[in-house]
Amino acid sequence: MRILVTGGAGYIGSHTCVELLDRGHEVVTIDNYSNASPESLVRVQEIAGKQLRAYEGDVRDRALLSKIFEEQKIDWVIHFAGLKAVGESCAKPILYYDNNIGGTLALVETMQKYGCRKLVFSSSATVYGNPEKLPLTEECKTGGTTNPYGTSKLFQERILSDLYEAEKDWTIVLLRYFNPVGAHESGRIGEDPQGIPNNLMPYIAKVAVGALKEIGIFGNDYPTPDGTGVRDYIHVVDLAKGHVCAIEKLKDSGVFVYNLGTGVGYSVLDVVHAFEKACGKTLPYVIKSRRAGDIAACYADASKAKRELGWEAKLGIDEMCASLWKWQSMNPKGYQK
Ligand code: NAD
Ligand code: UDP
Repeated sequence: MRILVTGGAGYIGSHTCVELLDRGHEVVTIDNYSNASPESLVRVQEIAGKQLRAYEGDVRDRALLSKIFEEQKIDWVIHFAGLKAVGESCAKPILYYDNNIGGTLALVETMQKYGCRKLVFSSSATVYGNPEKLPLTEECKTGGTTNPYGTSKLFQERILSDLYEAEKDWTIVLLRYFNPVGAHESGRIGEDPQGIPNNLMPYIAKVAVGALKEIGIFGNDYPTPDGTGVRDYIHVVDLAKGHVCAIEKLKDSGVFVYNLGTGVGYSVLDVVHAFEKACGKTLPYVIKSRRAGDIAACYADASKAKRELGWEAKLGIDEMCASLWKWQSMNPKGYQK
C-alpha cells in the first residue's frame, strides 16, 4: 500500500517509515521540519535500503496537500504531524490549537476531496486525564486534560469520531500512546529534542553523556512503591510496528481505539537504575518537588490491541535504555553534524 506519513521526519514518524518500508509499503512524507531534520529521512532510507518520497511543507497548507494527493494514489494516512511540548502548549495555546487541530482539519478535508478515507491518528494516554482506574482500558472515561496539548488531542479524537458519525465509510484509528522511548537498534535514528529535554528518558541520556549535570526527580512522595511517578514506557520500534499492524489488519469502516503500551509500569527510580545498567555509569540525581500537572501512575491495559490487531510490545526496559544509549552516544548532538 502507499502510505502518506505526516510528520514523517519526527521521532515516531521516522521509526514508522522504516517499519513500513521493511514491510514492502510505499512511503510518502510531509513535514515542515519545525521539530525534525531532513537528515532523519536520509537515514531512514539507508536503514531500510529503500527510497521514500518526501514533501517539505505544512500540513495546514491545503494547496500542498492537494498536490500530494493528485501526484500520489494514497491508500492510508498516518498522521503524526503536530506540536507536542506540554509546557510550551500552556504558554502558546493558540499556536497549539492552530497547528494541531488546524492540521487535522486541513488533512481530513483534503482526504474527503480525494476519496481517501483511511486514517491513523497519533493520540495519547493524556486524553484519560487523571486515570479513573489502573490499568487503563480504552473504555475508561476521557477528559480532564490539564494542558492545551492534551486538550488538542482530546478535541482531535472528538472531531474524527464526529466525522465518522456523519460519513460511515471512514476507517479511523485512534492510537493512544503511553510513553514512547528508545531508538532504532542501528543507533542511526532516534529522538532529537531541541534544548533541555522535558521528558525523563532523553533527560537521563543527556546526563549519561555528560551534557547535563544531574537528573531532577519530580517528587518521591507519590502513592507508588518507591514514591516516584510510575509510567508505561514503550519502545518506539514496538510502537511503530503497532501502526503497521493497524493498517494491515483493519479492513472495515469504523472508529477503532487502541492503547499502545506494554502494560508494565516503571517508576522514575526504576528507569534511572535501568539506564545506569545500560550505560555502565552511576548517574547523579536529586529529588525535587512535584511537577505541576503530573499524575502518580499511568499504565495501559494493552490487551485490546493484542486481541484485535495481533500486536503486542516485545521489547523491555533494558532494550529501551540500551538503544537510547547507543543513539545518544553515537549522536551526542543529535542530527546536527
Ligand atoms: P516529533 O516532534 O518528533 O514529530 C512531529 C513531526 O511533525 C516533526 O517532524 C515536526 O517537524 C512535524 N510537524 C509539526 N507540525 C507540523 C505541521 N504543521 N506541518 C508539517 N509537519 C509538522 O514528535 P513525535 O514524538 O514523533 O510525535 C508524533 C506524534 O505523536 C505527535 O502528534 C505527538 O503529539 C504524538 N504523541 C507523542 C508522544 C511522545 O511522547 N513522543 C506521546 C503521545 C503522542
Ligand atoms: N520526570 C522526572 N524528571 C524529569 C522528567 C520527568 O522525574 O526530568 C518524571 C515525571 O514526573 C513522570 C515521569 O518522569 O513521573 C515521566 O515523565 P515524562 O515527562 O517523560 O512523561 P509524561 O508521562 O509526563 O508524559
